[in-house]
Amino acid sequence: MIERDIRRVLDQNGVLPSRQLGQNFLTDPAVARGIVDFLELTPGDAVIEVGPGTGALTGHVAGRVRKLILVEFDSRLAAALREKYQGCDNVEVVHQDAVDFDIRRLFAERPIKFLGNLPYSSGGAIMKNFLSVPHPFDRAVIMLQKEVIDRLGAGPGNKDYGLLSLRMQSAWHVQTVMQVPPEVFYPQPQVDSSVALLTRRNDLPAFDRRLFDELLRRGFGQRRKQLHKLLPDTVSWAQVVEELGVQATVRAEELDLFQWLKLTHLFDNHPLKEIPQKSGEIFDVVDENDAVLRQATRGEIHEKQWLHRAIHVFVFNKKNDLLLQQRSRWKDVHPGTWDSSVAGHLDAGESYESCALRELVEEMGIEQRSLVEVGRLPPSPATGWEHVTLYATRHDGALRFPCSEIDTVQWFSMEIIEHWLARDPEDFASGFVACWDLFRRSVG
Ligand code: SAM
Repeated sequence: MIERDIRRVLDQNGVLPSRQLGQNFLTDPAVARGIVDFLELTPGDAVIEVGPGTGALTGHVAGRVRKLILVEFDSRLAAALREKYQGCDNVEVVHQDAVDFDIRRLFAERPIKFLGNLPYSSGGAIMKNFLSVPHPFDRAVIMLQKEVIDRLGAGPGNKDYGLLSLRMQSAWHVQTVMQVPPEVFYPQPQVDSSVALLTRRNDLPAFDRRLFDELLRRGFGQRRKQLHKLLPDTVSWAQVVEELGVQATVRAEELDLFQWLKLTHLFDNHPLKEIPQKSGEIFDVVDENDAVLRQATRGEIHEKQWLHRAIHVFVFNKKNDLLLQQRSRWKDVHPGTWDSSVAGHLDAGESYESCALRELVEEMGIEQRSLVEVGRLPPSPATGWEHVTLYATRHDGALRFPCSEIDTVQWFSMEIIEHWLARDPEDFASGFVACWDLFRRSVG
């Protein structure tokens, strides 16, 4: 869209560009097309665009993807977009503040990409809502004021390097791909803009994201102060200095991302932080009737596909959302897939119920006494040759999980899971899928 068309759309809809809503509309179709090209769209993709405005970017996406969701806060522009795309069943216009948009339903739309020439005013909050882990996107292209984009991609030794850089880079590879001058907007902003391409990051070791964020906040709270004066004294500073290979006087802004992750690991006091799975654990080997035959190690049982025992627990909150965990990328079975709230093997001689109660504490930090037995599953390839007992319970408090086992967790509504599972069963561990079917059958 060129400036004349944009002014016409704004006039027709009674919109006077608002500074508060960051309404600076792109007037150069070549720039718009160039920005969209960084998404590398394929027909199977879904795209969510935040702040579509007069549709400068939207026009280069519509018709090229499986689904397009537009989230626009200005009711008049949202209505104009709805009218423009009324014949297109795969374009959905949502009139909403993107800061409050519930991104959980987008997991059911994977593969999905994020696009936004974001309003300067709320760009930070919108990025936090959409681009923090867990999120469903493989790729995102965002435009914001140059100063913010510079901070996203900065490294140590750069004045722009800080909390925002590390938070973003712990989830994404960040690349600045375009500089955009004020002249290609109507009205013209007072500052330059830049475009960043974000691609999902899979090259980092397991780390506790909550702890990482807490340490960053402490470290950058007073960025000129020496780091050891700002962090808890639970770990010997001499050990930190040695393992990170830094001076004792180091400051937060001098550590790179990998040093921050190492630091997080040193401060992580979760008992299971080191061991994604223990192949030497001893389990009961059982027959088809679940009678104990003998004992063997976890490694041997899995290798020889002998029948053994496990539990799954579905944890619900008071909204009736189900807690799912995303398994660590470093697990030997079903790495990176979404799984039951809690799942685990029975130790030799252990009962199903005491295993479930133990795993709730060990795996999710949930102290629980009351469990409801949902049902039982016979051994099959889907359960990994396990006799499974599925339990359900309720929990609304804090969660604490080992990063060696679990990448992240999220509460999802039953409808989202149903839709997601139907579209993309590969996203889930097969044991969860079998438990989900059992659960659906048992609740009718
Ligand atoms: N995408 C259009 C373009 O490139 O010309 C418009 C970009 S303009 C910088 C930002 C857009 O975001 C505006 O349409 C504005 O109304 C919308 N917006 C502002 N705050 C928003 C919010 N919190 N949620 C969703 N949209 C918002």
